[in-house]
Amino acid sequence: MTALELITLLSQAIYVVIFLAVGYRYLRARTPAHLDMTVFFGILAFVVVESRIATAAGIVPPEWFTDSVIAAVIALPYILLRLVDDFTVVPRSIKRGAEVLLIAAVAAVYVLQGPTLPPVYVFLIVGYIAGLSFYCGFRFFRSAIRAKGVTRRRMQAISLGTALFALDILAAGIGGQMSDPWKTILAAVGQVLGLAAAISWFLGFAPPPILRRAWQAPELRQFLARAANLPRLPSTRDIVRELERGAAAATGSDARIGVWDEDILKIRFWPPTGEPVDVEPGRYFSGRAFKQQKTLLSAQPMRDDPQGADAYRAAKVGAIIATPITAGEKRLGVLVLYAERPPIFAVSDSELSQLLADQAAVVLESRALIDHAARVRAREEAARLKEDFLSAAAHDLKTPLTTVVAQAQFLERKATRDPSAPSDLAGLQRIVREAQRLSALVTDLLDAARMEQGRLVADREPMDLGTLVSSVATRQRPGAHRVDVDVRGAVVGNYDGRRIEQLLENLIENASKYSPEATPVNVNVWQQDGEARITVQDQGIGIPAADLPRIFERFSRASNVDDRKFHGMGLGLYICRGIVEEHGGRIWAESEIGKGSTFHVALPLGEERRLN
Ligand code: ADP
Repeated sequence: MTALELITLLSQAIYVVIFLAVGYRYLRARTPAHLDMTVFFGILAFVVVESRIATAAGIVPPEWFTDSVIAAVIALPYILLRLVDDFTVVPRSIKRGAEVLLIAAVAAVYVLQGPTLPPVYVFLIVGYIAGLSFYCGFRFFRSAIRAKGVTRRRMQAISLGTALFALDILAAGIGGQMSDPWKTILAAVGQVLGLAAAISWFLGFAPPPILRRAWQAPELRQFLARAANLPRLPSTRDIVRELERGAAAATGSDARIGVWDEDILKIRFWPPTGEPVDVEPGRYFSGRAFKQQKTLLSAQPMRDDPQGADAYRAAKVGAIIATPITAGEKRLGVLVLYAERPPIFAVSDSELSQLLADQAAVVLESRALIDHAARVRAREEAARLKEDFLSAAAHDLKTPLTTVVAQAQFLERKATRDPSAPSDLAGLQRIVREAQRLSALVTDLLDAARMEQGRLVADREPMDLGTLVSSVATRQRPGAHRVDVDVRGAVVGNYDGRRIEQLLENLIENASKYSPEATPVNVNVWQQDGEARITVQDQGIGIPAADLPRIFERFSRASNVDDRKFHGMGLGLYICRGIVEEHGGRIWAESEIGKGSTFHVALPLGEERRLN
């Protein structure tokens, strides 16, 4: 066997292998593209096998048979054109033109008898085959530029194979009409071109799985790189959107992800705009893929799922691949890839879809775990708060209550023993004082609850803060603190007077509570930069810098206060913040340990004041 014969044998064997591969694929996924590939390589394989058998057996086939074989070969570029059309759109004029030329060429073969066709016809037919093949090669090349991943590589290989096939036909056509040595040289060139075309087509039309996987890798890697951070996005909806973007980029088609919702027992899709769409398992391709737990592919969704035909038509869905997203036993959702045209390599696309769905499952499952952990943490936090609350409240209510009960029992015993004895005024005053403390604590608890609902501040009316502050500051209160008030001008705004009084009471009470009796408390009121400003300043124990940011939080007390010396629940400043913020203002504190603290309040002014 010569080298050239070996080359011919090799390329012929490749055609047969490709035919078997694409034929098998057509049986698995009956898309128009798979059918066209099968017919194309069916013709090539038939020509090869038939000529080998005829030569081996020494049979001369009848003329009609030879003519038919030639006619089938002439039809090859037209089938390639149909393949191009399966993937993108071939202009109608080119399709019709190719059909007319095909009919003319086939007619010439039958009428003028193929094997003895005059050279001018041979040139015309060769020109037609080579020209149309070049056009198809060019269109495959253009599609390759637009395609992604495996499809791009496969299209590149096919476009190269098609161009080589066109050159092979040219070499054979021209060589056939020449004499030696050109005839032999061109025949050899033709054989080599034929083998190169066969290899390129093999890689494009029937790439071995290992090659397909290598071609898928870059897109998949890109998708994985994006997916790694997704579980931390704020909502499942954001994650789904990003996964959809990643899947669309990796496949070059549109992608939607539906997430299984346990509560409504439906798959929920979030379209880019508008309301979410819920799909029952078993309905549409997405619901069916979810229910059957297998990838479904359709190149004619309107025919395969007439129920959903209107929806597919409206969304211009000409081909669809739906893959369940499942982590182990857990059904999480479904990935839907769709395009206006069927994918030319359905099997590669569904493989990729499977890989993407597996990855989406990992992301969604991690998200579910994070959500679960957050829920557990939130529950623990709520339980902790409740415990804090109960222990703080119980502790703080217990002390005055014990005093009240003990004192009342003492008075009762005294009265029983000697009903005519004068009443114990000091004892009664103690009961009143402790009962008032109790009442104040309960009021704070109720206010804190009201604040949670943002319902602390009620009706507001215009009032002068200076007047209000003066009246609160000069009020008689236990303890020997002097409260000095300095009001600079009228400071008028719309306030809930009762709550602002409460705010000042709290701040002045704290200033007195946390400072030595001999030191004064200074209260200032003025307006500055279009705001009403109040400060309450003391020369007391101060607040450690580390505690400053959190003293306005619920149940929060600074580390330098001794629970036994200073009673308190840590609710006063929390309520103060609520009052100020519901008025649209701010509250903050400045302090130096051992030197004293200044509490600042800024509140909005009334409209007309701010203009001054
Ligand atoms: P309570 O006084 O009941 O503990 P508050 O919410 O009124 O609760 O105050 C929270 C904490 O802020 C106090 O426990 C105390 O540590 C600190 N604090 C508040 N006002 C002053 C002040 N004028 N001087 C020093 N520390 C203060």
